[in-house]
Amino acid sequence: MNPIWLTDSRQVIADPQNTVFFAIPGTRHDGHLYINELYERGVRQFVVQQGLERPEWQALTHAEWIRVPNVLVALQHEAARHRAQFTIPVVGITGSNGKTIVKEWLAQLLATDFVIARSPKSYNSQVGVPLSVHQLNGSHTLGIFEAGISAPHEMVNLEPIVAPTIGVFTNIGTAHDEGFRSRKQKVAEKLRLFTHAQCLIYRKDYSDIDEEIRLLLKAVNPAIRLVSWSTTDEAADFTAQVTGPTLRLTRSNGGAWHLQLPFTDPASVENLIHCLLVLLELGLTDEAGLQKRLNRLRPVSMRLELKEGIHNSVLIDDTYNNDVAGLQLALNFLNQQRTRPRQVIILSDVLQSGQPEADLYTQIGQLISEQHPDLFVGIGPVLNGQRGHFPAGSAFYPDTESFLAEVPAELFRDAVVLVKGARSFTFERIINRLQRKVHGTVLHINLDALTHNLNYYRAKVGRSAGPSPTKIMVMVKAFAYGAGSVEVAQLLQFNRVDYLAVAYADEGVQLRQNGVDLPIMVMNPAPETFATLLDHRLEPEIYSLRLLREWCDFVQTRSDLNPDEPVRLHLKIDTGMHRLGFLPDDLPAVIALLNEHPNLQVPTVFSHLVGADEAQFNAFSQEQYTRFVQATTQLEDGLGYCPTRHLLNSAGIVRFPEFRLDMVRLGIGLYGVESSQIEPGRVLPVGTLRTVISQIKTVRAGDTVGYSRRGVLDHDARIATLAIGYADGYDRRFGNGVGKIWVNGTLCPTIGNICMDMTMIDVTAASVSEGDEVEIFGPNVSVKELAQLIGTIPYELLTNVSDRVKRVFYKE
Ligand SMILES: *Cc1c(COP(=O)(O)O)cnc(C)c1O
Repeated sequence: MNPIWLTDSRQVIADPQNTVFFAIPGTRHDGHLYINELYERGVRQFVVQQGLERPEWQALTHAEWIRVPNVLVALQHEAARHRAQFTIPVVGITGSNGKTIVKEWLAQLLATDFVIARSPKSYNSQVGVPLSVHQLNGSHTLGIFEAGISAPHEMVNLEPIVAPTIGVFTNIGTAHDEGFRSRKQKVAEKLRLFTHAQCLIYRKDYSDIDEEIRLLLKAVNPAIRLVSWSTTDEAADFTAQVTGPTLRLTRSNGGAWHLQLPFTDPASVENLIHCLLVLLELGLTDEAGLQKRLNRLRPVSMRLELKEGIHNSVLIDDTYNNDVAGLQLALNFLNQQRTRPRQVIILSDVLQSGQPEADLYTQIGQLISEQHPDLFVGIGPVLNGQRGHFPAGSAFYPDTESFLAEVPAELFRDAVVLVKGARSFTFERIINRLQRKVHGTVLHINLDALTHNLNYYRAKVGRSAGPSPTKIMVMVKAFAYGAGSVEVAQLLQFNRVDYLAVAYADEGVQLRQNGVDLPIMVMNPAPETFATLLDHRLEPEIYSLRLLREWCDFVQTRSDLNPDEPVRLHLKIDTGMHRLGFLPDDLPAVIALLNEHPNLQVPTVFSHLVGADEAQFNAFSQEQYTRFVQATTQLEDGLGYCPTRHLLNSAGIVRFPEFRLDMVRLGIGLYGVESSQIEPGRVLPVGTLRTVISQIKTVRAGDTVGYSRRGVLDHDARIATLAIGYADGYDRRFGNGVGKIWVNGTLCPTIGNICMDMTMIDVTAASVSEGDEVEIFGPNVSVKELAQLIGTIPYELLTNVSDRVKRVFYKE
């Protein structure tokens, strides 16, 4: 068996003896910091970077070390060496969009002809590509890998790892443009993937791609066979005529195919044609055979969703596919979601893995056992035969029907349930059975966008810079700006942020009760909650002498405290907001009081800018910074130690990197609203608020809609009633045409007053039916624009989405 390569220390480890950890010094997580932890989990083989060795490793007497000048480069070299052992065809895919879909569709279309190794999800980065290719073993007969780059000079590293024989260049867009001088440079860089390929499939209509191929690629790889297609250019090798679902593909040197496409939107058609050309290239030319394959094609949804289940359970819906790499990812996610006391895993047979069954199920059995679920359910004939590899007490069923027929739903009470199965097992039926039905208004939270945004701000504060990198505190107050504090905090914990902050003790208690262990600061600590704070390891923000005295007195009364563990508090300095905080004159008294109570410790001290997002206040921000640094210096001198200093919020991080000090406090930017305007488009929207149309009716001109006859119609109109009102957080000020709602691509104005639970809109211009979903905000309607319509700020709209609106969390 290949040794297992590990680059992410948070991952589930099935077989530590057979695992090699590559300690990559990333900008987010320096792998070298987690070696002791991995050693404790049984890992013994470590690839580390010369110069980054750490003293604490001396205790690891049984570790085997490989020291290299650059760990990432070593990983890539090893992957290239691994790849070089195989002579099978390998499809290498790059381009701006569609890489993952083309890869997944090819895997579906070719599943009966080949044993396929492919990238899990969209593992296409400098680390993801080596890990993907490392899956190749002797039984595979085809590899399909995607490669993506975000900066010049990256593809050179990936080319020998993928070493594609057949290339696919999907298209070119504007993503990641910032890393490149021009679009041409980006195309040229991507083309390096095909330096040694035998053929390249691409769309000639993209003139940048076509030109660079002729100028550059042909020069370095003159033998490459170009297979181009176009909808218009007759010089292309294939012309594609698309009318509705019908595709007529004509080859210039003879041959034509008439096919019905299962998807007809332009992006899908482009992806499908790329797939078909790969099939032709592999010798699958029979028209009827191609059509059969197309008919079996399913939409690609990599989405992994978190849903509320019956009996207080939480379901992780990952019913799209099932392979070992995907199982690893799903188990990682399961580990983040410790919101219920029990864990249940429902898994189907793994199809077409290419590995011998015994090996495969030994490995899966190890992964599952390592996870220690309260219940494992295996579904499928093969799993049934391999029961021996799974924990005692596991349940097995030959197929999904027999599981559904017998399933005692009580088994899922208070559990997080991972439901993961290959397509053909149709596990969506299991989800249907176990899910608590959600309808009406739903706030969908994209956990990948949250991670993306976190990493954007991390890169801004330069996590890896200097000996003591800037830390990150994330604000999860007000239900994490409406997004859902427990799930968001779990994700942040998994991504190892340094601190969380909430407004009230109760919010912190809820996090503690759901398995969040990070340090948590509480910004409004009322004296009645002091005991709660201590009991839950919550750390108060202290902002006045009165509060400081009360806290000191309270701590004195507690005889149960461990004298070796100082009680932590955070000091807030008022540098100009004039809300909460100590004024400079208070500091001598603060210092004196703290020095009288050596069991109190101040881990951090902070202040808040009043206008971080507005250039007109730059001078004042500078002044606040100066006052803050003066205050902290005074504190440091008085206390004899240096608390961590933090000043910046989201906008401040982007606009004043020079004020970042020891820590920053990330808020709204994480939730997808970048208010500084300096780098628009770099953070992704996180929340999508959707509701459904309950009824549609035709109303005559002159009639009125809603309370107080405010919605007067000047035309015969189709009026839709939506299941959202001001009690859900759709502000009453959006009434009477101020708000516009995205209905199947058309913006439709509200009509009449917004009601408590309902809203009426004019859908005359839209094509729409009852039961359709509509978007209040999300990818098509930005929260910022919506806020402007009623003269407020995104913060208010996000936090107004009421508790009764269901949150659904998903990962792409
Ligand atoms: C809410 C809050 C933040 C976060 O501000 P954003 O503008 O959302 O980034 C930072 N500091 C304090 C004290 C806060 O209350």
